[in-house]
Amino acid sequence: MRHHRLFTPGPVEVREEILQTLSTPQIHHRSKEFSELYASIQEKLQKLLYTQNPVFLFPSSATGAMEAAVTNGVKKKCLNLVNGAFSKRWHEITKMNGVPCDMLEVEWDKAIKPEMVEERLETGEYDAVTLVLNETSTGLMNPLKEIAEVVRKYDDVFLFVDAVSAMAGVKIEVDKLGIDMCLAGVQKCFALPSGITVASISERLLERAKEVPPRSYYFNLPLMHKYHLKNQTRVTPPIPHMFALDAQLDYIINEEGLENRFARHEKMAGIVQEWARKYFDIFPEKGYESKTLTCVRNTRGISVKELNEELMKHHVRISNGYGKLKEQTFRIAHMGDTQVQDIKGLLALINDILGLE
Ligand SMILES: *Cc1c(COP(=O)(O)O)cnc(C)c1O
Repeated sequence: MRHHRLFTPGPVEVREEILQTLSTPQIHHRSKEFSELYASIQEKLQKLLYTQNPVFLFPSSATGAMEAAVTNGVKKKCLNLVNGAFSKRWHEITKMNGVPCDMLEVEWDKAIKPEMVEERLETGEYDAVTLVLNETSTGLMNPLKEIAEVVRKYDDVFLFVDAVSAMAGVKIEVDKLGIDMCLAGVQKCFALPSGITVASISERLLERAKEVPPRSYYFNLPLMHKYHLKNQTRVTPPIPHMFALDAQLDYIINEEGLENRFARHEKMAGIVQEWARKYFDIFPEKGYESKTLTCVRNTRGISVKELNEELMKHHVRISNGYGKLKEQTFRIAHMGDTQVQDIKGLLALINDILGLE
């Protein structure tokens, strides 16, 4: 079967060199070689996230780390900020784990505004907030900096950020922003195969996690930390992914360079969004468009399914709208190692198929 180049917001296209690192012979996870690999990844992840905090590796998809945040980090009550499918999922995760929580939901094409968060935190009811930085379901980027500023005013309120479709594509300064847990699966802007998740963990989150009645064995942060201190993981990790992550972080930091990578994402977003406004419209409100994917409002009433079928004849693939937004929207990812010329080629092909000039 011929490969379809992925312009989908996860999983994304993975470079050939990286695919090859996945077949590195296995090493034992209690060996010196493993600890060296772990430490090497650690140092680079801290660079990527502008943090001194430890960055844990979760042997799960991102959803597992979302679960870890709320099962370990809430003593009183959690405020789940919701404006899309993934932030809604975080609320469901919080509820289903029996963690006290409320949701602050806005229309899915609107951003969460700092004043709304402030209004809820003023009640003093909450000691944790969950925020999805980049809503992959709607192509909307919430104002993290402004929201983090509000949360920081409340000493006992912790901030947990799902940065799954943003980390390694946009700059996130974890320590400056005061994020207690910043998590991402690697199948989006890292441009790696799915199967491992990274998350920075603040000191005070580790302290609080010791006081919260343990709700989880697998995702127990203090227990994970014990092994972290030895440059190990508690459970047998996906070792092939760690080889790939190490190699890709080298590429991101040393070959491409962080600033160049962030600038490339910004540039691709500009191109796709200019195109989208010319021929269609953009789903989220102005000023909050994502830098890593564009959710196009299907104002022409095209069949997105048929468009994608045509694209697949040319061995590329985009994404339909998420859930209830299917056919009303479609999504083009411009993340990971996708280059400006790839994106231009894709848009030219779509124009061709739809007869747009
Ligand atoms: C993809 C994604 C997730 C879910 O990740 P899994 O790896 O499938 O668990 C969560 N949040 C956001 C914002 C995402 O884009």
